[in-house]
Parts: sequence; C-alpha cells; structure tokens
Amino acid sequence: MRRAKIVATLGPALDDREKLRAAVEAGIDVVRLNFSHGDHDTHARRLEMVREVSVRLGRNVGSLADLQGPKIRLGMLPEEGVEVPTGSEVELWAGRETLDSYTSEGQAALPVVYEALARDVVPGSLVLIADGSLRLVVSRVDGDRVYGRVVAGGLAKSRKGVNLPGVQVSAPSLTDKDVEDLKMAVELGCDWIALSFVRRPDDVLDVRDRVHAMGGEAPIVSKLERPEAITNLQEIVAVSDAVMVARGDLGVEIGPERVPAIQKQIIDEANAEARPVITATEMLESMTNSPRPTRAEASDVANAVFDGTDALMLSGETAAGKFPVEAVRTMARIIEVAESSPHLVHPQPPPHSQATVGRVVARAAVQVAKDIGATAIVVYSISGSSIELVSKYRPEAPLLGLTPRETTRRRTALMWGTEAGLVPMKGAVTDLTAAAERVLVDGDWAQRGDRIVIVSGRPGGEGGTNRIMVHRVGDPVGE
Ligand code: ATP
Ligand code: MG
Ligand code: MG
Repeated sequence: MRRAKIVATLGPALDDREKLRAAVEAGIDVVRLNFSHGDHDTHARRLEMVREVSVRLGRNVGSLADLQGPKIRLGMLPEEGVEVPTGSEVELWAGRETLDSYTSEGQAALPVVYEALARDVVPGSLVLIADGSLRLVVSRVDGDRVYGRVVAGGLAKSRKGVNLPGVQVSAPSLTDKDVEDLKMAVELGCDWIALSFVRRPDDVLDVRDRVHAMGGEAPIVSKLERPEAITNLQEIVAVSDAVMVARGDLGVEIGPERVPAIQKQIIDEANAEARPVITATEMLESMTNSPRPTRAEASDVANAVFDGTDALMLSGETAAGKFPVEAVRTMARIIEVAESSPHLVHPQPPPHSQATVGRVVARAAVQVAKDIGATAIVVYSISGSSIELVSKYRPEAPLLGLTPRETTRRRTALMWGTEAGLVPMKGAVTDLTAAAERVLVDGDWAQRGDRIVIVSGRPGGEGGTNRIMVHRVGDPVGE
C-alpha cells in the first residue's frame, strides 16, 4: 500500500475521459487546477469529469485550485512556438497578450503580459523564461519594448513564466485575476486553495479571510517559491494549512543548486509543525516526452519520500505531456518501492511547546497502535483536523479517517497514508465502533479478532478529540 500521495495537474493531456480514468486508477489522489492556464469553463468541466470518474471508480479524489499570483508570463504564441536562438536578439513587448507578428526585423518578438516590464528592468537585467530554460540579458529599453540578447536559447511557448531575479516586481500578491479565480474555486467547491509567491504570513491570512467572506472554508496551501518566503519560513508555515515546495520558481529565483537543501528545510519545518507538505515541479519532467523516467528523476521522487514529504506533484507531465497515465503509474511505483526500503525513516513531530490536546492524543494513539500491533487506526473527525494530525505522526498501521462530511473525506486525499470513509453523524460510541468495524471488515482492512485503535471526541461534537480506545473487532462495546 502506498502512503505518500500523488497530486496531478489537469490539462489537455487528461481531457480524454478514458485517459483520466486510467490516470485516476493509476494513483491520482488530488487533481490540481492550475489557474495560470485555461478559462473558468474549462476548469469547471475538468473538475466535473474528475468527480464523475472518481465516483465511478470508488476512489477518493480531492482537488486543489492553484492561483497564479503575480506571475509574469508570455502571452499567446503560435501553436508551434517561436524559435529563440542562442546569441540572437529578441524583442519583448510589455503588456501584450498577442502580437500581429512574432518576428520584427527578422528577429523573434514575444508578448509579455505585464505592463510594468519595461519599467522594472534596466540594461543588464536578466530575464528568465520557462522556469529559466530560456535566458536573456536586457540590452536596452525603448518605451514598452525591451530588447535582450539570448544567452540560452530554445523554443518559446504560450504562457510560459517570465522571472526577473533580484527585481522587486511591482505587482500585488493577489491580482485581480486571482480574486476572480478564487471566487470560481470557492464556487466549484475545490478542497484546497494554493497561493503562489507567498511572501509573508499576512498573504496567507488575507486569502483565508477572503475565502471565508466568500462563504468558503477551503484550507490554504502556501507555495514557497520566493526568497522572502524562505526567510520567513517558520512564520508562514505556522499560519498555513499546508505548504508546497514549488521548485520551479524557487529554482529560478534562488538558483537550482540551493533547491535540494531548501526542500529538506521546508519539509522538516512542515513536519515539525504537523502541516502537510507537497513537493512539486519537474519530478518526472522527461516523461512529458518519454514513456520512461530518467534515473535522476526516479531518485528525485524517492528522495522526496525519504525527506518526509506527504505528497508529490506532477505538473506538465500530466497536464500537457504525451504520457500522463504512465507518469502517474511510474510515480506511484517509485513511491511504493521507496516506502518499503529501510531508508524510510519518519522523525516524529516533536512535542510541541503549546501542545494541544489534539496533538497529544494523535501522538499517543500512534504509539498505542504500534505497541499493541493494531491492524488499523480509525480516526473519527468532522473537520478532519484530527485525521491530519494522526497522519503526521506517520502510523505504521493503515489510517482510516471516518467522517460525516463529504468535504472532509475529499480533503483526506492529500493526507499521508490516509484512506477515508463516509459515515453518518454518530451519537454514541457504540454506533461509531460499529461503523468503524463495518468499514474495516468490508474494505478488507481488518478481520474479527484484530485489535484496532479508535480515536474520537465527544460523540456528535465538533473539535475536542480526546479519546483513544483499543478495541477487538467483534467484541461488544459498552458506553
Ligand atoms: P506554476 O508556476 O503555477 O507551476 P507553470 O506554468 O509552471 O505554472 P505547471 O502546471 O507547472 O505550470 O505545468 C508545466 C507546464 O505544462 C506549463 O508551463 C504548460 O506548458 C503546461 N501546462 C500546464 N497546465 C496546462 C494547461 N491546463 N493547459 C495547457 N498547458 C498546460
Ligand atoms: Mg510549474
Ligand atoms: Mg509557480
């Protein structure tokens, strides 16, 4: 059984229902709607298809809406892309979605969807395109045109990201587009909201307030990809519901050589704070065009598991690649094998200085389950927070979250090692135990005579998880 979860980005490559179905079967736990690409109707249609397919397959699949944030991007380019040779000069047109012609005086011309580009750069500034694979040095600025010499060339494609390392980009954290996208995400009932380019704790608090004001309750995933976010790491993790090691922009902003250590630092911090963490970007990048991963990619996926990540993400591989299903299957296999290796060690979140009862109970439940050799840990939770806490203590036994709420059930899809079942609201411990037994036995998780650990709170109440019960499947339960 695989424990770390797989997040897969949706896109044209998974728009075919059969492909999507196969990819969900291969192991997608959470789909990511990337609001950097595609319109609202497309996202709505994709999410609906995911929900249909997952119901039909009986798989619990969650959804994460990823807001673009103040990201500078190229506008639309011709389908086949625009060749930008090394050593050539290119023209960037600031504040443009499209151009009438993508050549100007025999050289490539690219639209950049950012009005202030020509004001933010000066001669000598570095401009990085497509996670840094195309690089140019600004030679001069003329009105809304920026001219640059290409130091690393390649093929420019529609809507690729543009980074200006070291430049204080004069755009707000949440753009007008993000606010519109956020509304859409709340309307669609997305299970998580991911916020790009988080700089400080206030960015997270602000989005959470907005979600609540819109009548939503989705938790916030902070994407850590700015140098400031690493400086303020502890404070940001503390106010976030989950975090993402967003290695694409992070690598461009601070240099790829610093990514591996920062990945470990972020994962350690998230684990210490008991927050789920997703490791993302280029995990199986070569599978965009090849049915097999490189050895380096297989190592990268396994090492993220060894680092203690809760989830791993596929981006272009499943959104726009040629082998989306194979990418999911490959990732699932690498994770499974890594998890069965002796290199897998999971440091426990340390006893917390402000230890809440929930945290103490979660920690103790995992210890009890280990000591009695429990077949499963069952956590009953309405909001899902106690399920998440138990998951963060990395129980060896399968973790089954039981909840009366469909949203909570879907949210468990991102939680490490967690399966979930829907049960009616329980009024008494006896009912809860009977429901747990039924789900465990039906799902082949446990048999009569097995010992299980049940974690719950006051039956019927929300919050305040405070009981650990050891139970033998089949034995009578008294109040
Ligand atoms: P982010 O910075 O939010 O990760 P991104 O542009 O890097 O944005 P990814 O989701 O990481 O986007 O996907 C990587 C690449 O896959 C994109 O640059 C794009 O070329 C392609 N892609 C992703 N999603 C879509 C989509 N919905 N439609 C078309 N192409 C997509
Ligand atoms: Mg990306
Ligand atoms: Mg990004």
